[in-house]
Amino acid sequence: MSLTFEHTTLGQRVLFGSGKAAEHLAAEVARLGATNIMVIASDFELKMARSVAAGIDVALWHTDVVMHVPIETAQAARTAAGDAGIDLVVCVGGGSTTGLAKAVALTTGIPVVAVPTTYAGSEATNVWGLTEAARKTTGVDDRVLPTAVIYDAELTLSLPVDMSVASGLNGMAHCIDSLWGPRADPINAALAAEGIRALAQGLPKIKNDPSGLPGREQALYGAYLSAVAFASAGSGMHHKICHVLGGTFNLPHAQTHATVLPYVLAFNATEAPDAEARIAAAFGADTATDGLARLRETLDAPKALKDYGFTAANIAEAVAVALPSIPANNPRKVTAANLTALLTAALNGENPKSLSDLS
Ligand code: NAD
Repeated sequence: MSLTFEHTTLGQRVLFGSGKAAEHLAAEVARLGATNIMVIASDFELKMARSVAAGIDVALWHTDVVMHVPIETAQAARTAAGDAGIDLVVCVGGGSTTGLAKAVALTTGIPVVAVPTTYAGSEATNVWGLTEAARKTTGVDDRVLPTAVIYDAELTLSLPVDMSVASGLNGMAHCIDSLWGPRADPINAALAAEGIRALAQGLPKIKNDPSGLPGREQALYGAYLSAVAFASAGSGMHHKICHVLGGTFNLPHAQTHATVLPYVLAFNATEAPDAEARIAAAFGADTATDGLARLRETLDAPKALKDYGFTAANIAEAVAVALPSIPANNPRKVTAANLTALLTAALNGENPKSLSDLS
């Protein structure tokens, strides 16, 4: 059978090396010829940011970082960058910090060098997100794609195990959702499969040895692959649901992804045999759902949305907002009834296998 597809790979430099972030950043700044640099990091991330920026001159430190990038926070950062004549934004932190740097790039065109410290993967996508009046809007714009990404697993050593697990499963969700995203293609699938393999190997190592680098490096490598696959394939059903849970109900990003993923996988897997086989093989498991379930058990992964502030009373609104956004190419037809059942199961942490038989 002939292969016919259209694929875009986004261009950015990736510098990967434990303990090398400061050296890599100084070299990137020199290569780009930047002279007026703004570093974005939350108050908590500032210490890491100062060590990463040790070899460069920083014109402006900006620490007002808020999850899901409220529009007011974005406007303040844009104004600060404009007033200071900034020519390069460096972000050091998790996806929220990267998101703020992207918000600055979106309207100013100032290039970004990203130094991620979680496994969220935002640094490798051209997707931006902003929240206004309890609605999270996302969009795609190549201006927000960081020019370079500097990965240093030492920066993730301080990420607590539970947050590492949730963030790593956010990466896993990028991989799995890529297999049925609106622009799913064989290249994304290859990247996603390698991402699943790397995350499935790395995350248990982090759990067993949080201060060891091998697991952290595997997870970071997997997180990058997951984001490249996701950026190319586009948001599938899983991301559309989590996007509403985060934006409308302010649920924590990584934990929400980690909790919802087994339900979307169980829901879609029976109607997506190629993706199912690919995911199962990447886990080295008999089925995709068993592979994910086994990993989640090893990791003691987040289980129920009720643990993160979601309630039964929120389900109707979540369904009403999420349903119209779910891509038409989703392997299984999504209805208000089966989406309500999925969210109810995820709310209560029920066995995801119940989702396979829903009509
Ligand atoms: P986060 O950035 O909010 O970080 C979670 C917490 O971990 C914060 O308190 C942060 O200070 C702390 N933290 C970060 N690095 C740490 C480290 N090394 N050690 C200890 N603590 C650390 O959470 P996240 O899950 O990384 O990112 C979530 C955000 O990223 C969401 O807003 C989400 O929408 C966005 N995101 C966007 C994309 C995209 O493609 N645009 C992709 C993934 C996530």
